[in-house]
Parts: sequence; structure tokens; C-alpha cells
Amino acid sequence: MAFEGLAARLQDTLTKIRGKGKVSEQDIKEMMREVRLALLEADVNFKVVKQFIANVKEKALGQEVMKSLTPGQQVIKVVNEELTALMGAEQSKIAVAQKPPTVVMMVGLQGAGKTTTTAKLANHLRKKHNRKPLLVACDVYRPAAIQQLETLGKQLNMPVFSKGTDANPVDIAKEAVAAAKAEHHDYVLIDTAGRLHVDETLMAELQDMKAAVTPDEILLVVDSMTGQDAVNVAESFNNQLDVTGAVLTKLDGDTRGGAAISIKAVTNTPIKFAGMGEKIDQLEPFHPDRMASRILGMGDVLSLIEKAQANVDEEKAKELEKKLRNMDFTFDDFLEQLDQVKSMGPLEDLLGMMPGMNKAKGMKNLKVDEKQLTRVEAIVKSMTPLEKRDPSVINGSRRKRIAKGSGTTIQDVNRLLKQFEDMKKMMKQMTAMQGGKGKKRGKG
Ligand code: GDP
Repeated sequence: MAFEGLAARLQDTLTKIRGKGKVSEQDIKEMMREVRLALLEADVNFKVVKQFIANVKEKALGQEVMKSLTPGQQVIKVVNEELTALMGAEQSKIAVAQKPPTVVMMVGLQGAGKTTTTAKLANHLRKKHNRKPLLVACDVYRPAAIQQLETLGKQLNMPVFSKGTDANPVDIAKEAVAAAKAEHHDYVLIDTAGRLHVDETLMAELQDMKAAVTPDEILLVVDSMTGQDAVNVAESFNNQLDVTGAVLTKLDGDTRGGAAISIKAVTNTPIKFAGMGEKIDQLEPFHPDRMASRILGMGDVLSLIEKAQANVDEEKAKELEKKLRNMDFTFDDFLEQLDQVKSMGPLEDLLGMMPGMNKAKGMKNLKVDEKQLTRVEAIVKSMTPLEKRDPSVINGSRRKRIAKGSGTTIQDVNRLLKQFEDMKKMMKQMTAMQGGKGKKRGKG
């Protein structure tokens, strides 16, 4: 998983300050020294680190007191906000042309994941936005690239516009856009050629194509594993082409994450999507706030909920989100979730998104015991409707009855009740940290 080292170090640092009822200037200075080292080690651009530290220091010292948080938590809140701002603050969505089709040029170095991402994006647009994309094979210098896109097109059951390797890429792009109009495609995704290094011929060809098809979006695909190089590549593509967004690929790998954190700040290019694996559905919209929370071990509850939405009907998931935010999540909801969780994929992955359950800290080798889940399910099923709604009524004799009914022990029941309470507490804290409940955030 990306950011592992960074996450572990930042969380260690933040743990030291979290519970503090008083935070002195010296505390903040010391903490910032550690944060600085952690970011540099994660390969974050040094200028970005410098600015980040300066911002956090200023805001942390100038904070207004908020009743719901301890001073230590407030510092963490500032770090979270600044990290989010660094990665772009708001989610940046893919362009939609006023008059279809929306033309998207996919650019980047060879091997960055351009062809794969083109297909992933087509799949995303169709699945999530009900669009009808046309894939266009313009990488005429690498015959395998055309085949690769055609294979992906077949797999998706989506048309691929291709003219083999003899045609001129600019002409292919122009013809493809005309064909898309005629066939009522609302997105044209052009897979362009990459080189091993940025070179002038490549740039000139891309500039010609840009002039010929006036794209609504130029997405730069960058490999996050290449660290600072990715930022340099982004800079040169941006200088020549004015790219409108970046897609960071291979964030599932063990990248140190520096590229993800620096790209927006250095090039002012928003990260629009993140590649999270080789499979066609492993592309996620990039949410700076969620990524920051994940790095800081505050969990990524929203992504978790969205993952659930993929399997669950939307109304229910929305309801659940509301309940979580309002703290009226009951054991009934919990039970319903358990079923869905089982269909959401490996539990280890899900755990990584939960608050305080980051994989970085000793969770790496954690194997979830599926039997444990069955036990939990049995316990909840042995509760009365009242108990499920309001666990505070569960006294000693009720605990005994529940344990007996579920074939477990009182200790098992106690443990589950405690976990449930802890989870609610954690949610409360997170909501306070993320929202601040409308209170003033201090200057800046
Ligand atoms: P292109 O030369 O830029 O078109 O790159 P490709 O699309 O051929 O991808 C290069 C390699 O990276 C392929 O093996 C892809 O499966 C792999 N790849 C692309 N995106 C991701 C990603 O998000 N995660 C992982 N793990 N691999 C990826």
C-alpha cells in the first residue's frame, strides 16, 4: 500500500500530541521537525515541505479554541486540513463539454499506465456516469499498444477507433472525433503515444493533436512509483501542453507517496483519478480530503461507504452515512452492514480504510478471522429489537441471555459492546475534526 512509511511516521508523531491538554510553541516546533523529516523521506518536494510546515505552524499557533477538541487534536486537525489543501482541497472532476462529445487526450510517458487508464476511465464513465465513450488508438509507434487497447475494448464490449500503425496520429484523432459525433458518443478518449523520456518530437505531435481536436481535457497519466520524476514529468508536459488534470497510477504499490503530495502544489495540476491496481475497475476518483485522512490514520469512511454502495442500493447507503454522522447507528444497521461487508472483498483492505485501523502500524500481518464474524453475527441476532436500538439497556442479565442465545461467552458479548461504543466514539471525533461543526478555524 502506498504511503505506508509516511503514514506510520506521521501517526507516530501525531500520537504524541493527540492527548495533550496543552500544546506549547515548543511542542509544535518539535512535532513539525518530525513531520518535515517524514515528508522529505516520503519523497515530497522540498519546497512543498517547507511551505507546508510554515502553514501548519502559523495556523496551529493562531488557532481558536474549539470545545469539542483537545489542543492536541486541534493541531492534528490543522495538519489534516493543510495536507488536504496541498493535494488540491476539493475533488476535481473530469470535464464535461457543453456540446458532446467531450474530447479527452490521455498523455504521458511509456509505461506510466496510459493505455490501461484509458480503458479504466471508459469503464468508469459508463458505469458511474452512464456515458457512451469511444476509445481511440493513436499510439501508432507501439503496435502492441493498439492491440492492447483493442483487447481492453473487447473486454469492455466498447468500440475502439483504430487505423493501424500507418496512419498519422493527428488524422486518426480528427477522424475519431468526427466518427464519435456521427455515432453519438459523448466521450472520446484518445490514447496517445508515449516515449521513455519527454522529447521534442513527442511534444510537437501532441501539440498538433491538441490544435486539431481542441480537447476539453488533457489528462496526464503519471506513475506514482517514480516519485520526484513524476513531478518533473508533470512539469514539462504541463509547460508544453497545459494539461488539465493528472491521473496517478500504481498507488496500490509501495510508492512512498511523494508524487501524490507534490504534484498539485508544484504544477498546479489537479489529480483527478488514482489507479489502484491492474484491473479494469481499479480506478478511483481522487479525493484530497479522504487521502489525507487515510495518511493520517483517521480512516476513509466515505470511500468505505462508496465501496459498499457498489454492492448495495444507494438509498440504504445514504441512510447509513447519515446515521453514522448523526451517531444513531444501531446494531440493526451493524448487522445489515456485516452481510454487505462480506461481499465487499478482503476484510484486510477494508480495515485499512477504517479510522485508527491503519495497516501501517502492525496491522500488516493481520488476518481477519472470518469465524469471528460469524460469532459477532450470532451475538447481534440474539439481541432484542430494543437492545439493538439502544445497547445501553444491556445489563448483566441481558448479557448472560445474549451469550447463551448465541452460543458465545459473556466476555465475547462484552467485547462486542465495547467495540461498538468505541466505533461510535471514533466516528464522533472524526466528524468533529473534519467538519469543525461550523466553528471558526482561526486565521488563514
Ligand atoms: P502505457 O505504456 O502508458 O500505455 O502503459 P500501460 O497501460 O501498458 O501500463 C503499463 C503497466 O502498468 C501494465 O502492466 C499495467 O497493468 C500496469 N498498470 C497500469 N496502471 C496500474 C495501476 O494503477 N496499478 C498497478 N499495479 N499497475 C498498473
